[in-house]
Amino acid sequence: MKQEKAVVVFSGGQDSTTCLFWAKENFAEVETVTFQYGQRHALETEIASAISEALGVRHHLLDMSLLGQLAPNALTRGDIEIKQEEGALPTTFVDGRNLLFLSFAAVLAKQVGAKHIVTGVCETDFSGYPDCRDVFVKSLNVTLNLAMDYPFVIDTPLMWLNKAQTWELADRLGAFEFVRDRTLTCYNGIPAAGCGECPACRLRANGLATYLRESGREDVR
Ligand SMILES: [Zn+2]
Repeated sequence: MKQEKAVVVFSGGQDSTTCLFWAKENFAEVETVTFQYGQRHALETEIASAISEALGVRHHLLDMSLLGQLAPNALTRGDIEIKQEEGALPTTFVDGRNLLFLSFAAVLAKQVGAKHIVTGVCETDFSGYPDCRDVFVKSLNVTLNLAMDYPFVIDTPLMWLNKAQTWELADRLGAFEFVRDRTLTCYNGIPAAGCGECPACRLRANGLATYLRESGREDVR
């Protein structure tokens, strides 16, 4: 894959930053694309830009603010609380969000001459998003190739990893400290370890604790 070019769907969070390091390891040329859709925190796009710059990759910002019109939800509207009922989709859910993101990423990828689209979707910590499942990604891959008559490959390096294994992958890529210190996962817009209270922070912290415990990795903090 070394001669090939990839576009990474990039939010500046733990998962997509790990994917960015993975892509840099596996492809000759890498670019990132971030979708703006009324994120509560403009900081999210600032961090995505800063990380792209730090890693020397070209960063594209695409305006997807129409998502807010289509699906008012906890990410796009400050007045809706982020919560997840047992067995229900989280209130952050936007129907078809990943379908749309990957489709737009594909249009961009073809324009910049990239065959690979890298996304951090994951079926293991499955939070109920049907368009993050492996079967969906494979189906969309076929559809995109037919739609644009182009040999896209959608790469999902995190698909079967849990959060602890995602930390392990970051570590293997030499990106452990970078991911820990520079990314933003928190729904409350606090970088690195975040607020510690929201579902995203809890998932991240649990995965990190598990990885540190199971790997015996020295942790000076
Ligand atoms: Zn948080």
